[in-house]
Amino acid sequence: ATPTAILAGSGVAAASGVIFKGGDVLERLARVTVVAFDKTGTLTRGEPRITEVLPVPGIAGDRLLGLAAAVEAGSTHPLARAIVAEHARSGGKDTPAEDVRTVAGGGVTGVVAGMRVAAGNRRFLQGEGVQVPDDLQEPAPGETAVHLSEAGCYRGTLVLQDGVRDGASDIVRYFQERGVACHLLSGDRQESARTIARQVGIENVRGDLLPADKGTLIEDMQRGGAVVLMAGDGINDAPALATAAVGCALAGGTDIAIETSDLVLAKGDLARLRLAHRVARRTMAVVR
Ligand code: ADP
Ligand code: MG
Repeated sequence: ATPTAILAGSGVAAASGVIFKGGDVLERLARVTVVAFDKTGTLTRGEPRITEVLPVPGIAGDRLLGLAAAVEAGSTHPLARAIVAEHARSGGKDTPAEDVRTVAGGGVTGVVAGMRVAAGNRRFLQGEGVQVPDDLQEPAPGETAVHLSEAGCYRGTLVLQDGVRDGASDIVRYFQERGVACHLLSGDRQESARTIARQVGIENVRGDLLPADKGTLIEDMQRGGAVVLMAGDGINDAPALATAAVGCALAGGTDIAIETSDLVLAKGDLARLRLAHRVARRTMAVVR
């Protein structure tokens, strides 16, 4: 491979908002056979809106939101940002939380006014020893539920909805037309993952995944001979981004995602991935 051709290829892409970290990335990108997409913040905009606040009887809606905002304040997760923003918009006061911990793919815990508060998905709250009611109306497909507990008691649920990102269907179609299989790997519920997948034209969907699971699935595919590109935005994708032959981070995502990836798309613009792939294929055709 001639370094000059590779450098030229990288240069073209950099001018267009794609950053390659190292010349060998082009080589791998040109040979990609599978693209695995993260859902939240990658195929979706990552700007969810709260559509419902559902406290248990005896708890006010704004108190539930305030509890959630208190423990989510330090988190960069799109769900956390939406909760904090909605709390501020509704004029809620900032409540300090201590000892805040984030569990990737699960949620957050912290101590608010002396009581342990947890916010996250059903599995995460169950792991906290919290009984989330079974008969709870599941959110509509495409919606995500964030459950809340205080001192080990279930306090209610916030429902959030996120839209599909511009260009998501286009990038999926682009790869599929070139024989590159597209997968969706999500930490969100299977139904939510499936709904977004259907909207963008992806058939291979895996939901309810822990961050490490995403990495393992990619490892398995690569052991089977696939050359996998993983596109993701968040802290939760770091293991998958690092494992994939090509890790692609959407800028605007987290710093750790950008650090662990080989390819960064400016402004989270998925169309730039197509550009990067074209540049890689042309460059490697020249090189070979
Ligand atoms: P995706 O793979 O779709 O990008 P993530 O791995 O980021 O999803 O998160 C998976 C799930 O973990 C979310 O759908 C949510 O239920 C839960 N979760 C993660 N972080 C948080 C948080 N800060 N607050 C509440 N829930 C969270
Ligand atoms: Mg994500």
